[in-house]
Amino acid sequence: MVILSGCTNKGTNEPLSKDGFMLGTFVKIKLYDSKNEEILDKAFERLREIENRMSLNIVDSDLSKINNSAGIKPVEVHEDVYYVIKKAKEFAEISSGAFDPTIEPIVKLWGIGTANERVPSEEEINNKLKKIDYNKVQLLEGNRVFLEESGMGLDLGGIAKGYGADEVQKILIENGVKSAIIDLGGNVFGLGSRLSGEPWKIAIQNPFSDNRGSHIGTLAIHDMSVVTSGDYERYFEEEGVKYHHIIDSKTGYPANNNVSGITVLSRYSIDGDALSTAFYVLGVSDGLALAEEIEGIEVVYITKDKKLYLSSGIINVFENTNEEFEISIP
Ligand code: FAD
Ligand code: MG
Repeated sequence: MVILSGCTNKGTNEPLSKDGFMLGTFVKIKLYDSKNEEILDKAFERLREIENRMSLNIVDSDLSKINNSAGIKPVEVHEDVYYVIKKAKEFAEISSGAFDPTIEPIVKLWGIGTANERVPSEEEINNKLKKIDYNKVQLLEGNRVFLEESGMGLDLGGIAKGYGADEVQKILIENGVKSAIIDLGGNVFGLGSRLSGEPWKIAIQNPFSDNRGSHIGTLAIHDMSVVTSGDYERYFEEEGVKYHHIIDSKTGYPANNNVSGITVLSRYSIDGDALSTAFYVLGVSDGLALAEEIEGIEVVYITKDKKLYLSSGIINVFENTNEEFEISIP
């Protein structure tokens, strides 16, 4: 299901932009210093390739093949897929499994965002939890991937959009673009800077407002990825309880902590994407500690009591623009 609206604003001073629905999200790419529509077409083709290889909704994607062969045999996959799984395993290790790409059986059980969303029984959850273990993902020579046990499954929903943003960035740079915004749902990449030379200002959405235009603050960046994960976009409610799509791989339930949203600043969007999911699960205290350990990663946590917790290096680029939110020290 892809709706492409075509390119807009050719021949004006407005950016050349194209949008469409891909990787399960609304994608928009804006070029500020080029009127070459072919570059945008190439970028969208690349995203389509990534989707075709990594989607679980496509029966013959490499990822579906890996999952269907779990416990049976290794599957040879495209190098894109092999690379993203390798990175996913690295982030699982770095985060001690807070980010775990083998979360698929639990994600499927909850079905959040699908027609089958429901609260599973504890027994169902405990059975599926036995299948979650990134150490049982074997990366073999010849781009082959093997899941050691039947019933295991990979889900790259927490990392593949970041990879997509990085790949689009590469294509834009190869084609001489120096000023662009790549927006894949919660993943935004500010390529270069504004035409004036000033940094991009990327707004962080207010998780407590239904109005998408309401912000808590801005990040002034150039050549950086800004990824946000939150509990306020994909969830359902039952008997007054909110069930969102970021799963604590230790419990099998949606991560239940004081975090409402987490924004990660990084050079590469694949890092920011995986880490945003990990930091959400880890919560403020462990997440901030991990962020300080990893070079080049900065974060803004928004908690349910409307406090902001920042990593040390973000002070220079973050501006709090909403007085409802208070910068706090953990
Ligand atoms: P993130 O926090 O970045 O990721 C959350 C997602 O990661 C969850 O939805 C789950 O998939 C997974 N996850 C949950 N907990 C963990 C954990 N502890 N560790 C690791 N991963 C975890 N959506 C559709 O509705 N229809 C589609 O056809 C569709 N196709 C897609 C195809 C591809 C290739 C990809 C990558 C995604 C697709 N999606 C689709 C998913 C959709 O885009 C998701 O909303 C998105 O991947 C979640 O990203 P996020 O930024 O909202 O949250
Ligand atoms: Mg993520």
